Amino acid sequence: MFETLSDRLTTVFSSLRSKGKLSESDINATAREIRIALLEADVALPVVKDFIAQIKERAAGAEVSQALNPAQQVVKIVNDELINILGGETRRVRFAKTAPTVIMLAGLQGSGKTTLAGKLSRWLKNEGHAPLLVAADLQRPNAVQQLQVLGERAGTPVYAPEPGNGVGDPVEVARRSIEHARHAQHDVVIIDTAGRLGIDQEMMRQAADIRDAVKPDEILFVVDAMIGQDAVTTAQAFVDGVGFDGVVLTKLDGDARGGAALSVRHITGRPIMFASTGEKLEDFDVFHPDRMAGRILD
Ligand code: GDP
Repeated sequence: MFETLSDRLTTVFSSLRSKGKLSESDINATAREIRIALLEADVALPVVKDFIAQIKERAAGAEVSQALNPAQQVVKIVNDELINILGGETRRVRFAKTAPTVIMLAGLQGSGKTTLAGKLSRWLKNEGHAPLLVAADLQRPNAVQQLQVLGERAGTPVYAPEPGNGVGDPVEVARRSIEHARHAQHDVVIIDTAGRLGIDQEMMRQAADIRDAVKPDEILFVVDAMIGQDAVTTAQAFVDGVGFDGVVLTKLDGDARGGAALSVRHITGRPIMFASTGEKLEDFDVFHPDRMAGRILD
């Protein structure tokens, strides 16, 4: 991922290497090149604008440093600003004071929600928790079965609709799952919800109804990084329609450009909490802004 952006930035930095001191026109030319690199990486325009403004301001005011030459200074500034737009600090899951902690997943169909539910449960188990997966996606054929298969692989029990469990009503399934979690001593509940292929009022209403019924501690918006600029539009629709606390980027393994990753935090004001990088359960990790910036500038 980020191959194009990495390559372009490397070219920009290497052209500065021979400079003794950066003039205003050097800074402007560099900023222009970085702007093109970000736009080619499909980063949203408002993010690019803010990013470039910061780079210019900091480069112009950069102290004459004994330790860093101009090229290194620009690399440092770009690195700092990348970390900044990626969210700065790593945002951890906020666990409820009284168990169970309820984590609700929301996002479009195909974004990787169900897969992510399995991955998240595996990760939580490794962190010493006893999660419960809840199949409240009753829209997509096979979503329940898919979650059961993933649960089995992750070693996580799955609460699914069956007679008496609110068959056909995802809100009821979600509500009952919390009671079940209390009885069965699960300290985290992960609720998979239904998505649609596009932004849809009915989907938003259902997600909002589940939210109101279970009062999640964390709502995670799951978004496919490969949809590029659409990730930003979709994220904004979910901010308005359901609201969420954090973002999970999926399919980062297939995202050569990185625009979604670099835009979604800045546009929504919500942190990226996890990243998914493949179809296997272990292709998943906490999102670290500094490591991601490091990879872009590697
Ligand atoms: P849902 O409709 O949101 O529940 O999406 P799914 O979990 O069913 O995922 C849709 C497809 O994307 C499936 O074929 C998954 O195997 C695949 N998928 C999910 N996450 C990733 C990922 O991080 N990388 C890749 N390459 N594929 C993924």
